[in-house]
Amino acid sequence: MNGVVGVLAYQGGFQRHIDVLTRLGFPARQVRDPESAGAVDALVMPGGESTTIGMLMERFSVLDVLRRRINEEGLPVFATCAGTILLADTIVGSDQPAIGGLHIAVTRNAYGRQIESFETSLAGEWIGNNPLPAVFIRAPIIEAVSEDVEVLLEFEGRPVLVRQQQILAATFHPELTDDTRLHRRWLKEFVGLG
Ligand code: GLN
Repeated sequence: MNGVVGVLAYQGGFQRHIDVLTRLGFPARQVRDPESAGAVDALVMPGGESTTIGMLMERFSVLDVLRRRINEEGLPVFATCAGTILLADTIVGSDQPAIGGLHIAVTRNAYGRQIESFETSLAGEWIGNNPLPAVFIRAPIIEAVSEDVEVLLEFEGRPVLVRQQQILAATFHPELTDDTRLHRRWLKEFVGLG
């Protein structure tokens, strides 16, 4: 593989992911059409508004290409927030266009209006001794995971970072802090770069 990392770049936090990847030595290709969706070797799916991103993926004929590449060909993905919603098999109470394939159920905007956004730090074996700063913005809650989904980090007893084969999915925004551990680890362990 050539190691071309793509970032889904319609809406939301894609530029911050591109900045982080560039800093780590992997200038990313923006994915917005079937050609770029077919050409990348790994993909970051940023946060934003999942209904808008899903609609645009459908309109630009990228939805089916990515569904095939992720779920049939094993394209490595790092999904954050809205990206995770778009990969979830079940989006509770919604029939928005989505990719699916990640065996989890999510509820959108699930932390309530008063605490729509908050910052915390996450601890857990997977991340080592040094807690990970985590920014949640109108985040979804992962309500359920199948047996083949590994829960890597939790917050308040709920999964907030999960792995299913080549997919790493967070409900928070690792691109908004200076801590690049998740990007680095994804590049190394899921993509085989870095
Ligand atoms: N609330 C957004 C959604 O449901 C996700 C928020 C985010 O990506 N920060 O699509």
